[in-house]
This record gives sequence, C-alpha cells and structure tokens, in this order.
Amino acid sequence: MIGIVGGGLTGLSLAHELARRGVDHVVLEADVRPGGVIRSGRIEGRLLEWGPQRARLVASLDRYVRELGLEGDVILADPDLPLYVYAAGKLREVPSSGWGWLGGDLLTWGAKVRMAFEILTAGPRPEETVADFLVRKLGRQPYERIAGPLYGGLYASDPADMVVGLSLGPVLRELGVKRSLLLPLLVGRSRIDGPAACSFTHGMQTVTDALYEANRDAVRLSTPVERIRPGERRRWAVETPAETVEVEEIVLTCPAEAAARILADVAPHAAGAIASLHYNPLAVVHLHADTDLEGFGYQVSLEEDLATRGVTWNDSLFDRDGVYTAYLGGAKRPGVVEELDDRIGEIATQEFERITGHGARVLAVARVTMPAWDRSWAALKGLEVPRGIRLAASWESRPGIPGRLAQANRLAEALTRQASARSRSRWSR
Ligand SMILES: Cc1cc2nc3c(=O)[nH]c(=O)nc-3n(C[C@H](O)[C@H](O)[C@H](O)COP(=O)(O)OP(=O)(O)OC[C@H]3O[C@@H](n4cnc5c(N)ncnc54)[C@H](O)[C@@H]3O)c2cc1C
Repeated sequence: MIGIVGGGLTGLSLAHELARRGVDHVVLEADVRPGGVIRSGRIEGRLLEWGPQRARLVASLDRYVRELGLEGDVILADPDLPLYVYAAGKLREVPSSGWGWLGGDLLTWGAKVRMAFEILTAGPRPEETVADFLVRKLGRQPYERIAGPLYGGLYASDPADMVVGLSLGPVLRELGVKRSLLLPLLVGRSRIDGPAACSFTHGMQTVTDALYEANRDAVRLSTPVERIRPGERRRWAVETPAETVEVEEIVLTCPAEAAARILADVAPHAAGAIASLHYNPLAVVHLHADTDLEGFGYQVSLEEDLATRGVTWNDSLFDRDGVYTAYLGGAKRPGVVEELDDRIGEIATQEFERITGHGARVLAVARVTMPAWDRSWAALKGLEVPRGIRLAASWESRPGIPGRLAQANRLAEALTRQASARSRSRWSR
C-alpha cells in the first residue's frame, strides 16, 4: 500500500497513475475538498480562478482530458493574443518571435543593440543570481522589462533573490540552452511557442474534480496527516486524528510547512531544511471591467513602483465576461497582503485604471502563497529522507502543472516497479 499525503493535482494524478497500474494506494487529504491550490468558483455568475488561470495543453494533460472525458470542456486560448508589459508609463507588447525584438517599443534602440551581444556572453553560472545572469546576458532594460517580470512572476519572486543553480539553471538545461538564450529563438523555431494555453468551461478545477471522481474510493478527504512513525514489518504508520494507516511507502505532496511537520520525528534534519523554504505571499484580486482589451494580460516592469505584479485578462483569454485577475505583493511588496481586503481592492483598481485607462470594480479579494524558489532552496542540497518516504511537491521539483503531472507519472512508474519487486520477494520466501 502506498500512502499519498495531499490530494492536490500531484496527489490525485499520482493516485490515478497508480490505479491504472493496479498498485494499491490511499490519498489522505486535509481539506474538505480535493484540488489543493487549484480552485475555481463563480461570483455573480462569473467564473473566477484562485489558483492557476491556465495550463499548457501538454501531452500528459491532453491524455487526462481524453481519459476523463473532458474534451468538450476544453477552451484553448488564441496563441496570437499579445502579452504586454507595463513599462515607462504605458502597456507595451512583448514580441512573440525572435526577430520581432527588432521592432516594437518595449525596448529602446540602445537596449536592442546591447541585447544583440548576448550571443557573445558566457552561459549560466550556477552560483550567480538570476538577476545578475539576466543583466549580464541581456542588459538591464531587457531584464527589468521582460525577463525579470516574466521569470520572477512565475514564483512572485525577486530574481535578485533567486540563484541560477537552484531555479533557472535546471529549466535552461531541460530546454537544452547551454550558452545563448536568444539563439534558439532566432534560429530554427522563430516563435516563442509550445502547446497552447487552455482552461475549461467550469475552470481549471474541472481537472482535479474529474481526477477525484475517477479515484474517489482511494481518496479520504478531511484527513490531515499529523505525523509518521516507524510501523510494523518495515512499514510506516501514518497518523491522522481519526486513524493510523500502515503503508509501505509514503509520498508527501503537501506544502513545505506541512511536510516539515510530518517529518519532524522521523527525519528532523530534513524537516528543518524543508521548514526553512520561503513562500511568497500574494493577494489575488478579481476585478470586473468593461474594456476593449485583447491579450493574455500584462506583467509590470521591475522599474515601476507598483503593488501589482501582473494581471491576467480572463475576459479575452477565455471569454470570461469582463473578468480580470490581478496579482499584488509577492517578494517585491510582501506587506500588501497584510492590508484589509477593502484597501487591497482599492490599490488593485487604482493601479488597473492607471495602467489600462479603464475603471474596474472588485469581485473578490483572496490571499495565496507560492513557493519562492529563491536562495532558501539551498537548504535542500543533499537532502535525505528515510527509505520508504518520497517527496513529490511543488517545492521539490518544477511547480507548473506540466511539471506536476510529469513527476506523478515518473513516480508512479518507480513505485510500480518497487511494488512488483516486493511481491516477487514475498512469493520467493
Ligand atoms: C496562485 C497560483 C497560480 C498558479 N498559476 C499557474 C499557472 O498559471 N500555470 C501552471 O502550470 N501552474 C500554476 N501554478 C502552479 C500549480 O498550480 C501548482 O504547483 C500545483 O497545482 C500544485 O499542486 P500540488 O498537488 O503539488 O500541491 P497543492 O495544490 O498545494 O496540494 C497539496 C495538498 O496537500 C494538502 N495538505 C496539506 N497539509 C496536509 C496534511 N497534513 N495532510 C494531508 N494533506 C495535506 C493540501 O490541503 C492540498 O490539498 C499556480 C500556483 C498558484 C498557487
């Protein structure tokens, strides 16, 4: 039996993969609902997302869409929609093709010429900060207006607090980037592409709801894991308020703070390292506005002194009737989330109006946290957990939805191999 702690996307997709392979498992989820940070709902009849606004329709997600019968619910975003950055007082389009960098008004001519020298600069160095790396490669303006907000925005982090070897480096390695960031854009593939961004008629939660429905016999909601301890016959005893479950392997998919608490007795050193990981606080403000804006949305240049980090234009992205989702705070302005809801809503609408020229009203204010993937991730170097405990979490490997699905799939393969080895050795005894 495999015990999966957490019924977010990672835990549910791992359960689905194990069920497909016939491996016995149970998912223990603390909350009354499955899905973790993926949460969709309606206010005034309008669909809002409190977690991810979209996902790339990668092969693993597409497979789930077909297996779970969700084909009719998928909404694909128009890949030609522009993405903007708010810089030097106006919204400016981010070029979508390699040679497009030559045009547009996002960068000054001086900055474009400087950026051309990127090809001559050295590749990533593991110990430098992401900010130093991007400034060294591209120059300050492309860093502050494009690369910094786009990359840091994924984690609500400040790239000056992120270290290449701990975050961007592994991503570049996976993309096959050794030295030049621009060359792959200029040669071969000319567009910054990849699978289309998608959502679902009833929001991103459609996927986790469907995964839960397909696997509900193995999922126990309202079952927080408090601690684990060694059990009988080399098993682990997983303690919850209502019961103790004996398992051969435990997979922790829960946030770092919960994982650290659960590991405290059996792996105090690892628990301490995991507890030191930093999460960025973000305010998520859903706005309603009547506009003619067409695009994915915008990020805010690092040069600007605003609380808003970026805004997703759900209205034009997925035809969501005047809905805009603003993210405020993060590493740049963590104090914003401490304000009262009314004040956060006021800041969001004022900045939205200043940037887009359109008035807006607040639909909802919420607070979330995101793994920062900053310097504090150095604590995970050389991390060791006892045999039979596995980590598969958004703080442990790539946090995006494609990354979560890929890890669940890899882990299901490994656990299946191990389960067969265990049953072979039982038979041979
Ligand atoms: C605001 C936001 C926006 C995002 N936007 C995007 C995006 O646009 N595109 C994209 O690809 N990705 C995005 N992501 C990332 C992606 O959505 C997440 O990394 C992914 O959904 C995390 O899933 P998970 O199952 O690993 O973790 P979680 O969703 O955190 O699930 C962990 C589960 O563990 C449970 N748990 C906690 N403690 C215990 C306990 N003691 N016992 C049992 N269960 C416990 C929790 O209740 C939770 O359900 C975003 C994330 C956030 C927060």
